[in-house]
Amino acid sequence: MVYMPQFDDTQTNVKLKKLHESEEERLMQILAPKYGIEYINLFATPINSEILKLIPETTARRTEIALFATNGETLLVAVRNPKNPEIMLVLNPLIETGKHIQMFLTTQSSMEHAWEQYDDMEISHAKKQGILDVDPERIKEFAHSIHSHLDVAEKIAQINIERNAHQTSLLIAVIFGGALALNASDIHIEPEAVVVRIRYRIDGILWDVCSFDKSVSTHIVSRLKLLAGVKLNVRREAQDGRFTFNIGTREIEIRTSVIPGAYGESLVMRLLDPSASSFNIEYLGMNARMHEIMLEELKRPNGTILTTGPTGSGKTTALYAFLVSIHTPAIKIITLEDPVEYKLPGIVQTQVNSEYTFERGLRTILRQDPDVILVGEIRDREVADTTISAALTGHLVFSTLHTNNAAGAIPRLIHFGIDPRTIGSACNIILGQRLVRKLCDVCKVERALTIEEQKLLHRIFEQPIAIHSVFESKGCDACDGSGYKGRTGVFEAIQIDAHVVEAIINDPRESTILAAAKHQNIPTMQQDGLMKVLGGITTLDEVSRVLDLYHLE
Ligand SMILES: [Zn+2]
Repeated sequence: MVYMPQFDDTQTNVKLKKLHESEEERLMQILAPKYGIEYINLFATPINSEILKLIPETTARRTEIALFATNGETLLVAVRNPKNPEIMLVLNPLIETGKHIQMFLTTQSSMEHAWEQYDDMEISHAKKQGILDVDPERIKEFAHSIHSHLDVAEKIAQINIERNAHQTSLLIAVIFGGALALNASDIHIEPEAVVVRIRYRIDGILWDVCSFDKSVSTHIVSRLKLLAGVKLNVRREAQDGRFTFNIGTREIEIRTSVIPGAYGESLVMRLLDPSASSFNIEYLGMNARMHEIMLEELKRPNGTILTTGPTGSGKTTALYAFLVSIHTPAIKIITLEDPVEYKLPGIVQTQVNSEYTFERGLRTILRQDPDVILVGEIRDREVADTTISAALTGHLVFSTLHTNNAAGAIPRLIHFGIDPRTIGSACNIILGQRLVRKLCDVCKVERALTIEEQKLLHRIFEQPIAIHSVFESKGCDACDGSGYKGRTGVFEAIQIDAHVVEAIINDPRESTILAAAKHQNIPTMQQDGLMKVLGGITTLDEVSRVLDLYHLE
């Protein structure tokens, strides 16, 4: 195996940017005398916003100039390219009023710094007009009138004509309205060289929605940073924040992450809508065998129920559904999460932070006399150890492990220092899961299976299959052209019974554990996924997107 060093992209980008900036600064200092003008560092110069706004932001950005101060009747102008003929076209109207012009050469980052003042002006204007917050009524209106991502782009194009603080508020309302209408889980705002791209994540997949001119998008980003409660003037560090708005009876929480990048700040917002998901074991998409087993498992008073899978495979949703199904006023359930994603009525939910870590939190929780505990994730030896002890001392514990499949959880626990013999008594069942998109019921059509596909099915089910057709879809208005609508889970599980315990103690490799669990007759994730393909719920493409169907042990 080749060892690949891990780079932190954010840090690398920041370093490269700084290096590039100091090189550019040296270059500009050398170039300025050749143009017969002086070099100026705008970071070290007060910028007069009254003078700056003599030139509209879009014009300033297009021609790469910034009017930053006056000296008597002389306007001081920073430029990037003194030879740009457009500069004089912009400045001539000012010269005609009797002003003189003195030009300075400056760097890109200096220029960006001056332009950021437009942002501050826009925000103080918005404050005065009282339109700083997102207007939930507006968002609601847009959410009702938007039916596809094309509608979002169209509405944005209409608003984009006016240029003022009100425009920024409206654009933000469209972005949120569109996200709610299309059931997006995340909104991504990603700066590129010339434009800023807006994308939605819908059913786990990112979709391009529209792009903005940089001058518009910096206002949008600043306004969202303000809403999220992060520092506006910090533009070169990663920051996290959150805010909420109420749409009717729904309280939508927006978790925001801002990171610096080569082309400006990029922003990701996760929309958490507690009313959007009703956590119910019946809605998870479990096959009959899995469902029957889980109902039995949830009746046990102690031990551990683990779920595995990569990020975004629906682990939290499944665990929440399990908690909701066992919740009664007679038992005390406490959770320890990072972060708390949805509020569950009647359940004590706590969130980890730098002080209240998984390990410390878990110890605190155990002193609160709980019956059931949910530990967001087993990440290290200490948490693994405390979780297992909790299960051994009469608690029912739910947790997740970041492994590819159920069998992979055993070697991981052993790697965390858990005694293989203890796993047998502390663990009840381990689940593996993925999420697949469901076919759109409006536009799905039946088609025959190819010979290759029949061979694949034969191999995965270990027997010939009597079904000879599956479904596919081309996309329609009902599914915004994607062919899919909504998602469902694909599951597998290993019960820790006497056979499996023997394997864990004698030879805890994934293949041995799988062989020992075979008699439990629980379909594998591959089999469960393909049953959902044959049942017309999803497609082969979709299952192979989340699972490897071609390389099995
Ligand atoms: Zn459709």
